[in-house]
Amino acid sequence: MADVEGSLGFVLQLQDMVTESAGGAVLAEAEDTGGGLTVSKSVLRKTSPVGWRDVFRIVAAVLALGMTPARSAAQNVPPAEAGKGVQILLLGTHGGPALTKQRSESATLLIVDGRPYLIDCGIGTMRRMLEAGVRSPTIGTIFITHNHPDHALGLVDVLANDYHYLDFAAPESGQEFNIYGPPQTPALVSAAYNFIRIPYAIFAAEPIGRNALFDPFRVHVIDHDGLVYQDDRIRVTAAENTHYQLLPAKDQAIMRSYSYRFETRYGAIVFTGDTGPSAAVEALAKGADVLISEVEDLKAIENAMRFETAANMNPLLAHMRMEHLPMKAVGELASEAKVKAVILDHFVGGLDGQRFLAGVKEYYSGPVFAGEDLARYCLAADTASRGNGSAAGTGARRLEPCH
Ligand SMILES: [Zn+2]
Ligand SMILES: [Zn+2]
Repeated sequence: MADVEGSLGFVLQLQDMVTESAGGAVLAEAEDTGGGLTVSKSVLRKTSPVGWRDVFRIVAAVLALGMTPARSAAQNVPPAEAGKGVQILLLGTHGGPALTKQRSESATLLIVDGRPYLIDCGIGTMRRMLEAGVRSPTIGTIFITHNHPDHALGLVDVLANDYHYLDFAAPESGQEFNIYGPPQTPALVSAAYNFIRIPYAIFAAEPIGRNALFDPFRVHVIDHDGLVYQDDRIRVTAAENTHYQLLPAKDQAIMRSYSYRFETRYGAIVFTGDTGPSAAVEALAKGADVLISEVEDLKAIENAMRFETAANMNPLLAHMRMEHLPMKAVGELASEAKVKAVILDHFVGGLDGQRFLAGVKEYYSGPVFAGEDLARYCLAADTASRGNGSAAGTGARRLEPCH
């Protein structure tokens, strides 16, 4: 039954495709509530005349019309609208890999002039996107800072949801999703696609799907510092950080951890990802309008481990001391780099953001926000830059919670 409902949900969510075929009332209801499998189930209950046969009928009608159910990537990704500014949507603010109920794992959506970019994708990211009203196929570009579990394992959910919307699409439609990340990323994305295609092969074998599956995921390796991406809205530079400094040298060739700086016409946003104190990250963050930084409570972690044996405790404590940022280090980084505002995320050693905020503020006098899942922050265009569309305005740009 779930498959039937899933298929119906798929059809109903493609409102632009089936409006004429399936009747406006049902589709309007789906649209009002935001789409998705859950919504589809409620629609199914409320509209009992729509059944399994109708699904085939609708799909057959659409295919007969030669329409492609999903829009192309270019159409899926919202066109940028100048002047909309930058919005930062925190999807997950916990450092893992251990999962918590209160905070999801690392993921942030950077929305520039209405176009979304995803930075990191820990477990739970897809669920948070649904809660935030974000449709994953509208995200055409994903950046992974490093391939630790809490930054990468949610990718399969997001790509699977993308794939769901492409299930019936033709390869020639040019739909694709681009994933940028360190050298292990191609293996990660390839594994994700191979995982996803097994269940979808069942749909493909039925008359409701295409017989041939295709891979819409394109991977781009980041293996150097400096410019790694550019389009008409953002310019991304990378700096390898110190998060993997304790790894054996042979592993450091492919296991790399990066911090990213996103330049926009509204200001620069820097993601530390995971890192220990690092001169390269400090240089990357120089003068940024927003520093989105990981943070840990090192004392709380040391306290929690005090009864462990030295063999258990020492490697982990070395990792936490050298390859992450305690509150003091975050404050010092923000001060040294003279960033204009800080958003804290990737909390480790506690869940109370205000406690971390107070700890960072001892070492940094600018505005600090303790991130929460689903919080949104806006960086608006200042008067000077809004008028001429220049990359750097002269007035004050202030980060604040979106209204
Ligand atoms: Zn992490
Ligand atoms: Zn990590």
